[in-house]
Amino acid sequence: MYRTCQNCKTSFEITDDDQQFYTKISVPPPTHCPDCRQQRRYAWRNERTLYRRKCDLCGKSTVTIYSQNKPYEVYCPPCWWGDGWDAKEFGRDFDFTRPFFEQFKELQLQTPRIALLTKNSVRSDYTNHSNNNKDCFMGFGVFDSENVLYATNVYGGARDTMEVYRTHNGNDLLYECVDATKCYNCQYGYLLRDCSDCFYCYDCRGSSKCFLSSNLRNKQYYFLNQAYSKEEYEKKVKEFRLGSYAEREKLYNQYLDLIQTKALHQFALIEKSVNVLGNVIVNSKNGKHVFDASDLEDSKYTIVCPDVKSSMDAYHFGFRCELIYESHALIHCYDVKFSHLSYDNSHLEYCDSCHNSENLFGCVSIKQGKYAILNKQYDVETFIELKKKIIEHMKTTGE
Ligand SMILES: [Zn+2]
Ligand SMILES: [Zn+2]
Repeated sequence: MYRTCQNCKTSFEITDDDQQFYTKISVPPPTHCPDCRQQRRYAWRNERTLYRRKCDLCGKSTVTIYSQNKPYEVYCPPCWWGDGWDAKEFGRDFDFTRPFFEQFKELQLQTPRIALLTKNSVRSDYTNHSNNNKDCFMGFGVFDSENVLYATNVYGGARDTMEVYRTHNGNDLLYECVDATKCYNCQYGYLLRDCSDCFYCYDCRGSSKCFLSSNLRNKQYYFLNQAYSKEEYEKKVKEFRLGSYAEREKLYNQYLDLIQTKALHQFALIEKSVNVLGNVIVNSKNGKHVFDASDLEDSKYTIVCPDVKSSMDAYHFGFRCELIYESHALIHCYDVKFSHLSYDNSHLEYCDSCHNSENLFGCVSIKQGKYAILNKQYDVETFIELKKKIIEHMKTTGE
């Protein structure tokens, strides 16, 4: 079936598989094309533009993604996670004479929001979209790490590491690396897997003590892609004064030249995967239009999605996420739709900044909540009935 996008007016396809997924999760097919849907989702993420602002509870200065002129109530992370307040106090009845989104917006404006999305972290004030960290600074999408500075998308933990982008499964002592998995003491590396003591290397696996080399597999003591004895290699490397900025600049240019003119490149970065379409996909199957994916299954239109199953239209989500639709910034979630900034939940719809909860509809900043609509808690039967009625109401208002 083809549809015309309500926004850009181009035609887009809804396949039989897509339709089956929509039926499974009880949503009508989308009205916007995949690109317009992704653009709409991008509008929900301020990852790294940080401000200072006073916490609206304790009055202390805090680092936040909300500038002073934003109309929200903003709490610093210790206040927001603390027991000094309860988001259910902002709960209200649903008004069937008005549209849902109007009422949801009012709740968003009145219920305090967390200054930045951090969970279970210590001494990591300047991290956002991150959790389980210790002594990290300027980290975005950094998880389970210690002593990591200036880093983005660090999964599976890293230690004593600086200036990295996209690392997986435990890394230690890295500097200026992009796409590293299980590496130790590497500097200026791109696409390194199980490597140690590699400097200025591109696409190397299982290698150690290599310098300015590319596409190596299980090699040792390689310099400019040539094999040397241990002594010769060490002598060659020693000739570089690595403590000199000028020398480092020269090496960096040689490294760029190596990547651009000497190295071999895959047409797309797809590893250990079957039936996938996209780029930077590892250990995955049945993924269409997926990017930055690992351990992914049966998903479509997803971006930055480690450990994700049966999901569609979502980005920056993962670590055991299943049945996710039209969402952003979710960790460890099951059956969550139209939601964002929420970790450790199941059965959520239209939720914003809710954690450790289940069965919420149109809620904001709920912690450990159950069966709530617009932050008001109900018994199970009333919740199910009311949710059904609101969805019917949303269909009549075209929402
Ligand atoms: Zn469109
Ligand atoms: Zn505070």
